[in-house]
Amino acid sequence: MTNAIMKVASVVSLGQIMITEKPIPACPPDSMLVQVESCAICGSDLRIYKKGDARARYPIVIGHEIAGTIRELGREVWGYQVGERVCIAPGHGCGECKYCLSGHSNVCIHPRPSIGYASDGGFAQYMVPPANVVKLGFVNAIPDGLSFDHASLSEIIACCLNAQENCPVNQGDVVLIIGAGPAGCVHAILSKMKGAEKVLMTQRTLPRLQMASERLQVIDRIIASEKENLNEVVKGETGGLGADVIYVCAPSPEAQAQAFDLAAPRGRINFFGGLPKEHSFLTLNANTIHYLELFISGASSSLARQNREALELLASGQIDAEGIITHRFPLEDISRGLRVVEDRTGIKVVIKPHLSSKEPG
Ligand SMILES: [Zn+2]
Ligand SMILES: [Zn+2]
Repeated sequence: MTNAIMKVASVVSLGQIMITEKPIPACPPDSMLVQVESCAICGSDLRIYKKGDARARYPIVIGHEIAGTIRELGREVWGYQVGERVCIAPGHGCGECKYCLSGHSNVCIHPRPSIGYASDGGFAQYMVPPANVVKLGFVNAIPDGLSFDHASLSEIIACCLNAQENCPVNQGDVVLIIGAGPAGCVHAILSKMKGAEKVLMTQRTLPRLQMASERLQVIDRIIASEKENLNEVVKGETGGLGADVIYVCAPSPEAQAQAFDLAAPRGRINFFGGLPKEHSFLTLNANTIHYLELFISGASSSLARQNREALELLASGQIDAEGIITHRFPLEDISRGLRVVEDRTGIKVVIKPHLSSKEPG
């Protein structure tokens, strides 16, 4: 493939994305060359593009929810085959620190450049995963019968599985999800799988809530906070107690602070969504945490085993991928895809780098 050219979508500086041509990268001995078939847009792609992210290095090819086919294999890599269909997730662990060794490579203290942040990602016709990603098991075979588009959801599902390990749902819990985007939808599905009695979902406006509710069929009550008093509805739905589990998927400090008023005694709150780096401070009444014995957790990225679990959940049909994917675009139309994410007019958007914009998508 030497000298051959590919198309990529590159964020050249904050707020500026361009479709450019680049040489297809050479396959290094400790990695592989992957032809990208589907790469889903993550909220963090929009953040890197529009708002800035502390880990991003510009110019960068964004996109880290990648499904494709191995076209070349480095001679030091074992356990894969040319032609194999794989998903690539952005593990950034060094593989050697105390956290990597104890199975928490997502909080590695010597992180390697992460795919789509500081190492070129999947909004390209080809990409090479960093060697540590291959070594740590973040390249996983797509089960037979699972499409590239559906498989590209495995990374966001893995991130949600990670959050649900930190902030578990128990049988009979009332779960409140703030934010009706893809992560909110996946949390709704996983919460019901874990036996939640009720799943409530809120965001400011109604249309995407309605879309999520109709497409997924797992949400018991939607609350558009511009129309209804969220506090009153949550108290009404929980006998005045508040929600047992709250996943804050909206990238908003106000939403994070609000969660403390909506939690039941001994409630569990997970800050799933990262905040823009300029707006990452909260003001809250810490006595709420003290007297109610609240458990607050974070969630960052995912682990290799959670990506494999996500692929199994998709392949077995336990997660309805088609309910989550609302849009597909060729690479040339990535700006349209990013606008769908920004305007919240869809749920998950998948980019297809080898689909021509002339073909019907
Ligand atoms: Zn993601
Ligand atoms: Zn490490």
